[in-house]
Amino acid sequence: MIEKRDFYINGAWVTPETPRDHPVIDPSTEEQVAVISLAGEADVNKAVAAARAAFPAWMATPPAERIALVEKLLAIYLERSEEMAQAMTLAMGAPIDMSRANQVGAGTFHIKEFIAAAKDFEFIRPLSERAPNDRIVYEPVGVAGLITPWNWPMNQITLKVVAAAVAGCTMVLKPSEESPLDAILFAEFMHEAGFPPGVFNLVNGDGMTAGTALTGHPDVDMVSFTGSTRAGIAISKNAADTLKRVHLELGGKGANILFADADEKAVKRGVIHMMQNTGQSCNAPSRMLVQRDIYDSAVAEAANVANAIAVGNPHEEGRHIGPVVNATQWGKIQDLIQKGIDEGARLVAGGTGLPDGFNRGYYVKPTVFADVTNQMTIAREEIFGPVLSIIPFDTEEEAIGIANDTVYGLTNYVQTQDGARANRVALKVRSGMVEMNGQSRSFGSPFGGMKQSGNGREGGVFGIEDFLEVKAIGGWA
Ligand code: NAD
Repeated sequence: MIEKRDFYINGAWVTPETPRDHPVIDPSTEEQVAVISLAGEADVNKAVAAARAAFPAWMATPPAERIALVEKLLAIYLERSEEMAQAMTLAMGAPIDMSRANQVGAGTFHIKEFIAAAKDFEFIRPLSERAPNDRIVYEPVGVAGLITPWNWPMNQITLKVVAAAVAGCTMVLKPSEESPLDAILFAEFMHEAGFPPGVFNLVNGDGMTAGTALTGHPDVDMVSFTGSTRAGIAISKNAADTLKRVHLELGGKGANILFADADEKAVKRGVIHMMQNTGQSCNAPSRMLVQRDIYDSAVAEAANVANAIAVGNPHEEGRHIGPVVNATQWGKIQDLIQKGIDEGARLVAGGTGLPDGFNRGYYVKPTVFADVTNQMTIAREEIFGPVLSIIPFDTEEEAIGIANDTVYGLTNYVQTQDGARANRVALKVRSGMVEMNGQSRSFGSPFGGMKQSGNGREGGVFGIEDFLEVKAIGGWA
């Protein structure tokens, strides 16, 4: 059993003030594999005090020195990537091959991109050619409270920690209590890289106690949060009393619009994308909108693709999807699948219960519903499991209307070989991101949502700017 009860505060591993044990469960076996501590308010206060004390010196550290430490961090991250992949697989159940390539890989790309973007960033620059006498100075916001979920742990942690660090902010990270081991390992990397004490601090803890203490703390200048819309609303309210800057990366219910002239791989690609990470991605294309002319064949193909997706032990190598993160999520997904059936959607693959061959672990059958209407619960709620809803449409306008008829606005997808139409649709859907014909955005591209999917953007230069204040100075001395 792994025991990791300490928090990383002011450059050292410290015993919690009010120890409260929390089990870490392997979702593939339902067995406890580790124990961590949950922070109380006193632990959060200590971490915030360390970040506050470290801020003036870190802000004054030249950007090139900050970047040099991130370069050291990258070297350690790459050297110890296998440990990191194992830590993620153990606690949140991503298959090990996927942890290595995608979960660890996303972190690698983000760190590299931040290094490159920070090197190019002009922290002091003239306002414009029309106003050469005016200067713009980018200053770090201050102490940042960073709260992350469990589904893409290294993606989210690097997006926040490294951006904050190169911007000159000091920080307290509170990762998800569902995947704390990877965050603890990351804190070891930060220590080994040699960041000055107090620049980066880690407390483990739950949302209600540690999360609330951090987001309401008067000495925290900014909160950067990734997680559910429900928690994002609670955090916004809690942070309002001290008027913090609040950056929110929240849930999604992406539409993947397939026109009749979509390329021949579009259906398969859409299903596989939906099921990746066992459907636990905020940008999952969970509503497949299919033009009527190809509807029947697309439904048949989607069912075949889903039925062919292997579900397997995440600790074993190979191409399969693993379990979902915990019993609560498993139960919620089962209820939503049942609701889909009860509300009249046509189940064409998967369904409730454990997949064949499993009698334990939080495994879910890759599930596809056809004849879904956009009013059904499965089309409105973020399921966060391997469940695809297929909705028919006739015209371009109708497809755009369905895509936009959601409280979310994170990512939408469009598949058509008509370039003019692809561009038209991309401009009309209301989401922070659009991807066309299976082409992903690059890692420096701004990540974030509109509507109840949040605000602010992460990644690359946009992610660095998120942690910066703009100071306008008239005249050069
Ligand atoms: P969650 O909201 O339950 O928890 C996320 C984090 O917030 C955890 O660290 C948790 O401890 C903390 N938290 C919960 N309630 C809190 C509160 N009241 N105050 C402060 N902190 C609180 O989400 P989850 O189940 O861990 O993750 C899944 C959700 O995250 C999904 O909705 C998904 O769409 C979203 N997500 C969004 C993005 C994005 O970039 N838009 C990326 C990944 C995941």
